[in-house]
Amino acid sequence: MNPDQLKARIESKRDDLIDLTQRLVRIPTINPPGDFYTPCAELLGDRLRARGFELKYIRATNTPGDSDRYPRTNVVARRTGKKAGPVVHFNGHIDVVEVGSGWSVDPFAAEIKDGRIYGRGTADMKGGIAAAIIAMEALLELEPDLPGTLELSGTADEESGGYGGVAYLCEQGLLTRDTVDHVIIPEPLNKDRVCLGHRGVWWAEIETFGRIAHGSMPCLGDSAIRHMGAVLGAMETTLYPQLARKTTAMPVVPDGAKQSTLNINSLHGGQGEGHDGLPAPVVADSCRMIIDRRFLIEEPLDTVKGEVREMLESLTGSRTGFRYALRDLFEVHPTMTNKDAPVARSVAEAIRTVLGRDPDYVVSPGTYDQKHIDRIGRLHNCIAYGPGILDLAHTPDEYVGIDDLVTSAQVMALATYQLVHGHG
Ligand SMILES: [Zn+2]
Repeated sequence: MNPDQLKARIESKRDDLIDLTQRLVRIPTINPPGDFYTPCAELLGDRLRARGFELKYIRATNTPGDSDRYPRTNVVARRTGKKAGPVVHFNGHIDVVEVGSGWSVDPFAAEIKDGRIYGRGTADMKGGIAAAIIAMEALLELEPDLPGTLELSGTADEESGGYGGVAYLCEQGLLTRDTVDHVIIPEPLNKDRVCLGHRGVWWAEIETFGRIAHGSMPCLGDSAIRHMGAVLGAMETTLYPQLARKTTAMPVVPDGAKQSTLNINSLHGGQGEGHDGLPAPVVADSCRMIIDRRFLIEEPLDTVKGEVREMLESLTGSRTGFRYALRDLFEVHPTMTNKDAPVARSVAEAIRTVLGRDPDYVVSPGTYDQKHIDRIGRLHNCIAYGPGILDLAHTPDEYVGIDDLVTSAQVMALATYQLVHGHG
């Protein structure tokens, strides 16, 4: 097939691509709580059934948040060619995050302005899902006897960890290295970038302890908040500089995330907030901090945890009355696909053909569903590639550029063509 033919076919579907993106965005699949997953999955399913795909709807029962009111509905569509060949799988999450404030447009109207579609989920990542569908449809129109198998899954709960979505499909054997060869996740990483993976995550809670007493006589108590102040001080003087010195082979974007990072998500000590009237005078006997540590592929998780524990232990040694607890909340290991993996090579080649330039290789600062495909599915030939600007994800006035939608669909179609013909 001539690449120009495929590009032209997709260009001719521009209006269809816009319309499909708009229809997906107009279903407000906000997570939490996980609204409208079923109609959104059905919109994808109905569309692909009409193109000869077989469908499976899978409800991830007994996963966090699943209920009859908010079922964790996933769809897997599969089209097996008459000629044998590799299985290419597109995975996109159908959930979006809350709207938040600061919008100048209706977040679920999917309005078009200046060549962009605006709305929650346009970039992250309903535009990418629509582009993948248009890519597969154009391929099948031009080559009805396309070998191999095309799959698309629309999955729940990526924004809340993916347990009722991709993790569940992997556990059910639907997205593993035994059943799928190549995976492309059309997350918004830009039309000219191949995203190889993501950093790791460790969330933990640090609690410092004190002794409650009357606020007029702090000498009789021991302030947990002052102990936490010492923790903050140690972070500034030792831990942050230590993290900033680490280097990595991971091409993380943006530049500021190309190191180990630690965010303090929340900090609370003493009396609860939200009561009426004046507070009572007491010395705080507890102070709690939630930390969000993002780490690199070069760092073992034990080391990551060990650094924090060491800092706390050294305070125990140096500070009178210092007592603490450190609790693990959540962890994800980093993942990075090799640049030479077949799916990465094919998408890179397709970017060269469509855009006439070399792709950038990037690693996402935060995690996405590749973690489950990697660890549960043991399928390492997986990348993220899709339209939209990463920085716009989760922001007010999120948008996706229409030209970028078209370009990325062309790249996905060309890459898929190469892969199903075994040229990957
Ligand atoms: Zn996303």
